[in-house]
Amino acid sequence: MNNESVDYLGTPIEFLKGVGDKRGAVLRKEFGINTFRDLLYYFPYRHIDKSHVYKVSDIVSDGGYILLRGTIGNLRFAGQNRARRLTATFSDDTGTLDLVWFNGLKWVEDTLRSRHEFVIFGKPTLFNNRWNMTHPELIDPSQQQDSPVSLRFQPLYNTSETAKKKSLDSKAVSRLMVNLLTAVKDNIPETLPLEMVKDLNLLPLRVALVNIHFPEDNLKLSKANLRLKFDELFFTQMRLLKMKLINTNKFKGHVFAHVGDKFNRFYRECLPFDLTGAQKRVLREIRADVGGGRQMNRLLQGDVGSGKTVIALFSMLLANDNGFQACMMAPTEILATQHFEKISRQLAPLNLRVEFLSGSTKAAARKKILAALKDGEIDILIGTHALIEDPVVFKNLGIVVIDEQHRFGVEQRAKLWRKSTTPPHILVMTATPIPRTLAMTLYGDLDVSVIDELPKGRKPIITRHFYEKDRLKVLGFMKQQIDLGRQIYVVYPLIQESESLDLLDLQAGFDAITQSFPSPAYSVAMVHGKQKNEDKDFTMSRFKNGEIQILLSTTVIEVGIDVPNASVMVIENAERFGLSQLHQLRGRVGRGAEQSYCILMSKYEISTEGRKRLDAMVETNDGFEIANFDLRLRGPGDLQGTRQSGMLDFKIADLAKDEKLVVYTRNLAQQILEKDPGLSLPEHRRIAETLAKQMQKDTDWSVIS
Ligand code: ADP
Ligand code: MG
Repeated sequence: MNNESVDYLGTPIEFLKGVGDKRGAVLRKEFGINTFRDLLYYFPYRHIDKSHVYKVSDIVSDGGYILLRGTIGNLRFAGQNRARRLTATFSDDTGTLDLVWFNGLKWVEDTLRSRHEFVIFGKPTLFNNRWNMTHPELIDPSQQQDSPVSLRFQPLYNTSETAKKKSLDSKAVSRLMVNLLTAVKDNIPETLPLEMVKDLNLLPLRVALVNIHFPEDNLKLSKANLRLKFDELFFTQMRLLKMKLINTNKFKGHVFAHVGDKFNRFYRECLPFDLTGAQKRVLREIRADVGGGRQMNRLLQGDVGSGKTVIALFSMLLANDNGFQACMMAPTEILATQHFEKISRQLAPLNLRVEFLSGSTKAAARKKILAALKDGEIDILIGTHALIEDPVVFKNLGIVVIDEQHRFGVEQRAKLWRKSTTPPHILVMTATPIPRTLAMTLYGDLDVSVIDELPKGRKPIITRHFYEKDRLKVLGFMKQQIDLGRQIYVVYPLIQESESLDLLDLQAGFDAITQSFPSPAYSVAMVHGKQKNEDKDFTMSRFKNGEIQILLSTTVIEVGIDVPNASVMVIENAERFGLSQLHQLRGRVGRGAEQSYCILMSKYEISTEGRKRLDAMVETNDGFEIANFDLRLRGPGDLQGTRQSGMLDFKIADLAKDEKLVVYTRNLAQQILEKDPGLSLPEHRRIAETLAKQMQKDTDWSVIS
């Protein structure tokens, strides 16, 4: 039977031979396997190679499972009752080893007496100075012919303790898999057009699914892997791009048709430096978006210090030039304030009205601002994320810039889209570099711009790792830098579980530092999350003005703070920070012309992974390299902000390792949709069908389509 309209793979798992109600319940509960399809896509984590036949003389200690061919003799029963066992000797032309069985002795004895030659499979161990194999599998070469699948590679499946107790171990799962494949082999519908499978030299899905469990040989196994990864990645990209297409068609964008006076004057009169090539390129990309009549949804990635703010500024001026208002949001009050101050100062010659709004804006001032905003008197509004939550009404909002927020996900964007009939353009900026493959997947529905060039004249930050015993040396270095007129950050980790303990750390550090740097010769201060905003802001502004030489803090200064004269970043207990966080912190220095330093302090004994992180920091300043390293170290599921994203739940593809395939499938999906946006051509019928089935399940994403 080969009837594709019947969803045979959707059959409840209980109906599979060898399952039934009891095992069905275990499969559902322990593995989330509810249907034939679920089991079919429960892939082994590894295979044991039974294709190579070893000799007894090849056996080495600590080796794995192997296959041997030879004869078995000297059958002997020993022991009583529960200790009863059957022993025998196995020999080939190079040596002998002992075999022993404890269970199913009758069956084993019958089998052993039925033939002379055997192929055995098991793991040899050394016992009383002789090689011994417990419960070897006895393979009958003729068995191979009856089986629907190849038995040369034995699949190993993850199972749980509970499942094992209910006798569902890896072996049992593999037996069920044989039953399943026997049952469904001819009922696995192809997800891709046959032409495509042929042109791309992929295995047919059916063949791939059989071979991922029971490969005929190594080549088939790797081709099966490729085909299944291809399916996952290709359809993920199709889904994302389709979503993007829907949004683009649905949302007409404001048109910023011309570059006007404000943009030009800022460029000519206010900009104290030349834009880097990368900045210019990104500006062109943005201008093409906002001038084209469709709504922009762009993610701007650029390493710390690469100069994203000025891009935001130009984009907002472009809105102003075309009669629209603009707003910019930052994740913290400190950052928003800093933006406001800097931007107001930079734009002073242009006669624009720039205002600030946050949760802490006083009621009277707030009322005034809201009224002016509604009347269109305010050109640029800067604030915290309260801006989108609040009942803030603009007269004609043209663009929203979201700073330092790669976590500004689909849902929040949807909130903005719903704000008016013509939604504003959206520019999300982040300094947390997301590896390209991840960005393509996580933000596959966004356009991505990258500033991959730092402004000229920046000296690479020198990073060193020191232990507690080097403390005096570090203090001496700090003193030397302060004497040169520089300022220093000292950062302590924050562990949310025990904030008071963290503060103790910070306080102890403060006491120690003030001893080495006593007032009035030196001025030392600290900021942390428990302080009132006013106090924090006061201290920060004194640090910015150079009145404070050493600023101790918890991670509140992590993002965006810009004090060019600060040239030393000391990170205490650096082993406790994640890589991207360390890189963010380091980005607080190296913003001026002076040589900057990042000092990682840790205790001597740290975990291997912790050490790898610190080594990576010492080795490279490149945020993208760091991000890739992080991805490899932790896997995509753990990267900041990606945890909840169902988009990354791949069964077989690996964003860290399959970069080429991600890019390839992305381009392919793009080509197909450009040629046939509705997937209505006959040659794309299968893609459309597969996609429709998948998108039905995508409840998360239906919010925005
Ligand atoms: P980030 O990308 O981390 O937000 P900023 O926008 O804060 O970086 O820029 C960092 C510093 O570099 C700022 O002081 C900014 O004025 C300066 N800057 C930005 N672009 C350039 C450039 N093309 N040449 C020189 N300095 C620049
Ligand atoms: Mg910034």
